[in-house]
Amino acid sequence: MTDCLFCKIIKGDIPSDKVYEDDTVYAFKDINAVAPHHYLIIPKQHIAMINDVQDGDAKTMGRLFVAAKNIAKQQGFAEEGYRTVMNCGEAAGQTVFHVHLHLLAGRDLSWPPG
Ligand code: 5GP
Ligand code: ZN
Repeated sequence: MTDCLFCKIIKGDIPSDKVYEDDTVYAFKDINAVAPHHYLIIPKQHIAMINDVQDGDAKTMGRLFVAAKNIAKQQGFAEEGYRTVMNCGEAAGQTVFHVHLHLLAGRDLSWPPG
């Protein structure tokens, strides 16, 4: 998708601090981190939001969690614990319409979230 911020990041047209990449997934530091570790894990395929996920996307969506586990190990917070969040729609706080899994760690995370 040409007019999507995260598609531009995947293509390298907009710079990002990459922490992980495989054939399906790209992950980078959030520009406005809300925790000592805050990464965004995105599919290379453009899917705008969870509402648009199709049966055929199940494997791709699952790969986001495999990447989260790999990053957690790589960055050293797998044992301590971490949170994954995916917002869907404006009321949930989604601001970029290319699905992304937030990966947060490095501080105590309260529950329920705001
Ligand atoms: P959302 O609010 O849609 O769940 O999350 C979007 C996230 O993307 C936000 O946490 C925001 O800080 C991050 N973000 C927005 N624009 C950029 C950017 O250009 N680069 C990076 N690295 N993160 C961005
Ligand atoms: Zn996109």
